[in-house]
Amino acid sequence: MYVRDTIAAISTPPGNGGIGIVRVSGDKAAAIGDAVFKPLKDGGLESHRFYFGSISDQRTGRTVDEAMAVLMRAPRSFTREDVLELHCHGGWLVVETVLELVLKCGARLADPGEFTRRAFLNGRIDLVQAEAVMDIIASNTEAALSLAQTQREGALSRRMDDVRSLLLKALALVEAYIDFPEDDLGKTDLQLISDSVERALAIIDELLSSFEEGRLLRDGVSVLIIGKPNAGKSSLLNLLINDNRAIVTHIPGTTRDIIEETIIINGLAVKLLDTAGIRHTEDLVEQEGINRAMDKILLADLVLFVLDASRSFTAEDQHIYDALSGSRVVAVINKIDMPRQLAIPDSISFEAAIDISAKNGIGNELLKQTVCECFFKGTSIDRRELVAISRSRHRDALKNAGNVLRRFMEGLDQCGLELLSIDLREALEAVASVTGQTTNDEVLDQIFSSFCIGK
Ligand code: GDP
Repeated sequence: MYVRDTIAAISTPPGNGGIGIVRVSGDKAAAIGDAVFKPLKDGGLESHRFYFGSISDQRTGRTVDEAMAVLMRAPRSFTREDVLELHCHGGWLVVETVLELVLKCGARLADPGEFTRRAFLNGRIDLVQAEAVMDIIASNTEAALSLAQTQREGALSRRMDDVRSLLLKALALVEAYIDFPEDDLGKTDLQLISDSVERALAIIDELLSSFEEGRLLRDGVSVLIIGKPNAGKSSLLNLLINDNRAIVTHIPGTTRDIIEETIIINGLAVKLLDTAGIRHTEDLVEQEGINRAMDKILLADLVLFVLDASRSFTAEDQHIYDALSGSRVVAVINKIDMPRQLAIPDSISFEAAIDISAKNGIGNELLKQTVCECFFKGTSIDRRELVAISRSRHRDALKNAGNVLRRFMEGLDQCGLELLSIDLREALEAVASVTGQTTNDEVLDQIFSSFCIGK
């Protein structure tokens, strides 16, 4: 439910910084501005003008900080309400004190994502765009950022609107006949309905097929490094991340837990997970690490199976290989600087096998390239104009709409008009839930609670 009270929060990250911003949104924003902020030149705050002045506590008369302030009158603001921003020095205590003052003047502390939620509820952006705002903040690659920006600008929302209007057109035709039950669906109208629904289905299918790419660009991929103890997993991780994050020793089983590091390869965020060596052990701590490694196999998008070129292929290697069935696996043949002992049995195959020496860096670039190509074969990751869905929420809703529309098409000749209209309405509802036209409070709570406070 939308309560029209005035909310406030610190909109800059926690900790100390150059500037800290307290943002206020709601009917009281202007009055709060007048109460706490005194511009250097006398007079009130005009909308959309940036003022220099000071923030003070009215009750004590004490100056809290020198600051800048801007008031953005509704509807020309992010939330479409009156919005006040107070820019003060970025020490955490200063910013907290300014927030306290604002709260004392009648604002309430905002919930996570509440500013964006109001922007959505006031119709400034739809749900896809609100989610894109969150993705922009979370983006850590250029590709993820440009995908999020394209969504924020409304490219995906426009596709959803296209689907909606096609379905509404079909629904209008179907319902026109419901009102005149004596008439059968004419041939021309039948054709028009089927054309509209086919075109809507084509857009839905195209968007569904973009999901995998969208998800990879947005979330990156997780790559699990696995192999028997001493094969060189930690050394490989260090080589890839180019520092000494994982502890490397010659004592088997040093990496007792899963180490996570994210690197960016050609614009793709790759989360590397270094596992404990898989082997039978009496050491409970290590066993726990191994169990976790096994759990992670299924979750990883790709597995790098490190084999030691200087040792022969052992039962341990076979055991690991067997555990990888069903996963995408690239073999990383390490220690090629040493005399080669390894012979991989014919029964074993990989998506690719790359020779490397983690010790002196041989094969590093080829390996990175190979990892990338596993996900984006022959295409570059620069997707400035890509319109894709990147959230399972979107995918599930579109899948649902697609299934209903296929059922609709199958029944078009035989089913009664009432049933056809129910199908169309169901598909419309699913499509509308993506952009938020028909999304209940619970779903909204879930979406916005993952935002940060102040956004
Ligand atoms: P892990 O148990 O699989 O994580 O293996 P480590 O990364 O700890 O490496 C085990 C040992 O192999 C260490 O002594 C490393 O210095 C050594 N090592 C790792 N990679 C190479 C390599 O490419 N060539 C050689 N000669 N030694 C390596």
